[in-house]
Amino acid sequence: MNEQQRIEELRKLLEKYAIEYYDKDAPSVSDQEYDRLMQELMALEEKHPEMDDPNSPSRRIIGSVLEGFEKVTHAQRMLSLGNVFNKEEIDEFVTRIKKEVPNAEFVVECKYDGLAMALQYQDGHFVRAVTRGDGSVGEDVSNNVRTIASIPMYIDEGGYVEVRGEVYMPKKSFENLNLLQETLHLPLFANPRNAAAGSIRNLDSNVCKQRKLDAYWYYYQNAQEHGIKTQEDALEAMKTMGFRVNPLRKVCSTTDEIYDFIEEVGQKRNELSYEIDGMVIKLNSLDAQQRIGTTAKAPRYATAYKFPAEEVQTRLLNVFVSVGRTGRITPNAVLEPVRVAGTLVSAATLHNEDMIKNKDLRINDVVVIRKAGEIIPEVVKSIPERRDGTQVPYHYPTECPVCGSKLVRLEGEAEHFCINPDCPARIVESIIHFASRDAMDIDSLGDKKIEQLHEWHMLNSIEDIYRLHFKREELLDKKGYSQKGVDKLLANIEQSKSQPLANLLFGLGIRLVGKKAAGILADHFGSMSALEQASEEELAAIKFIGHITAQSIHAYFREPENKELIEFLRREGLNMEQEKKEVQQSVFSDKTVVLTGKLNMPRSEAKKILESLGANVAGSVSKKTDFVIYGEDAGSKLTKARELGVPLMSEGEFEEEVKNVKI
Ligand code: NAD
Repeated sequence: MNEQQRIEELRKLLEKYAIEYYDKDAPSVSDQEYDRLMQELMALEEKHPEMDDPNSPSRRIIGSVLEGFEKVTHAQRMLSLGNVFNKEEIDEFVTRIKKEVPNAEFVVECKYDGLAMALQYQDGHFVRAVTRGDGSVGEDVSNNVRTIASIPMYIDEGGYVEVRGEVYMPKKSFENLNLLQETLHLPLFANPRNAAAGSIRNLDSNVCKQRKLDAYWYYYQNAQEHGIKTQEDALEAMKTMGFRVNPLRKVCSTTDEIYDFIEEVGQKRNELSYEIDGMVIKLNSLDAQQRIGTTAKAPRYATAYKFPAEEVQTRLLNVFVSVGRTGRITPNAVLEPVRVAGTLVSAATLHNEDMIKNKDLRINDVVVIRKAGEIIPEVVKSIPERRDGTQVPYHYPTECPVCGSKLVRLEGEAEHFCINPDCPARIVESIIHFASRDAMDIDSLGDKKIEQLHEWHMLNSIEDIYRLHFKREELLDKKGYSQKGVDKLLANIEQSKSQPLANLLFGLGIRLVGKKAAGILADHFGSMSALEQASEEELAAIKFIGHITAQSIHAYFREPENKELIEFLRREGLNMEQEKKEVQQSVFSDKTVVLTGKLNMPRSEAKKILESLGANVAGSVSKKTDFVIYGEDAGSKLTKARELGVPLMSEGEFEEEVKNVKI
């Protein structure tokens, strides 16, 4: 995929995530992952101005007005905020502002993880409350906002007043709400933000009242009309009018001051009664704010610092194992629920038996949990000093928890497998994998639906996906399957037939063939039939495929069952061809390269360039590494490369080397 295609892909993906997040209040990826993809998109868009599109998620606010709420046009658009992630980026922001406003002061405020809201008052009376919506048009949610006790219905200020802020669910309300959901056997809310947004956008205001929301107000929209000159004074004026304004803020003049305050708040973040996901840095002078202006999406005079992944301690209550599509057994930790990075976490993956042994994790241990770019958190380590004699070692199972057959651990491998091909868990997981986003991307065939259709004996294999249209009438008789829903599902299945060859190869779930290997195979062979005919030697000769993977691919295409599946998919008209790609020759061809430090170009871009030159970009340095490309502030990987005598290359040298590369 070239950069232009990646831009298109990222735009679609981010729009989908934003709709899940804003409109459905049900995100499927973590905020860090969303932010990471947005950074990648912005970097690529900057590089390709010819692809400029005002509809890109980087350029507009995504959100819509739910049916049942009246639409209200904002007199002044409600914007998003740009992001910074470290001190250097804060400094870049400060320096940029100081170029235009030499003595600039900044107000540093908490960034509440809730739902943006505008409150309108006329001659001292509350008129209405409006959500951000798409920034221009929001929803009138006055009935629900009236149930929030701390919001004044009368204020001591004449004329028109509009204040904006964040409605949020206090941590305590969130805990109580999820306890109640659990008791009623209803699905739990993922985090306080989604719970708050879901409550405010509920058509029954009694529901909102029970959810005990609160709010902080941070923006006096028409402050200047009331003679106010700075953000700090606007906050004080709002407080005087009776709005809840957070005293936890600071007026700062330098990057150091800003960063110190951010660190101070970061340290006591867990003790706050509300969730914050960062801090907002705003130019204090309102006049200067106006001069500096906004983009279509965010103000230029303010930015949001996002806190990094968080680590917390909790107790390991138990371990249970699950069975994947390949029969792989994954142990999962059952944790005492704890809040990490805004989410209540009660489970984490433990990867395999060795990880449990190496980390010496025992049931009832106090453990450290980390949640970073992914939705599933990880157990970092146990804390042996906190043991009190109640800890017991975990005994790994010897039988499949679903079908009861004996588990197998092959020599030299870390994982256990259930090798019963008829194990129901394996069948469901293989269909889930086939339909997943990186494979056939059958949007309306999600995990729950697959499990349900399997229970109803309508999906017993991958083939059954493409036979589902014969069961249209049967589906329409099922609860939860409307005509529209069934039509969409069948249309999505039909569309999936034209997915690229690499996606299909990944979807087949050939052992050891992940996304990267599937891409390499598709590029190398250009068709399913060429790959099917390839000998083990031919496969092993492809760089980065490796001997064991070659064996696994070769064996896969020799299995009668798999041959039948491929034939079936071919008859069904699935795309099995693509253009072969020639790898451009360079010093990086067939080499293993590690990137480290802060690079000027986005890391994803450097990776893509290297891969297009036939390099394998690895995550850690070893004797097998051929080059380490380093940027600023490179740390342990650079040290290790020096120790091992691995050839080093600065980012400048790398750029010079690849300046003529086209991807
Ligand atoms: P944002 O949340 O990063 O920043 C803008 C918002 O911050 C404002 O609209 C306002 O509501 C809020 N805010 C809180 N405290 C504030 C304060 N003191 N001053 C000013 N504003 C304050 O931007 P966004 O456009 O609302 O959302 C983007 C973010 O949402 C992403 O960075 C990501 O973290 C998350 N997101 C996640 C997903 C997902 O799938 N997980 C999808 C979309 C968005």
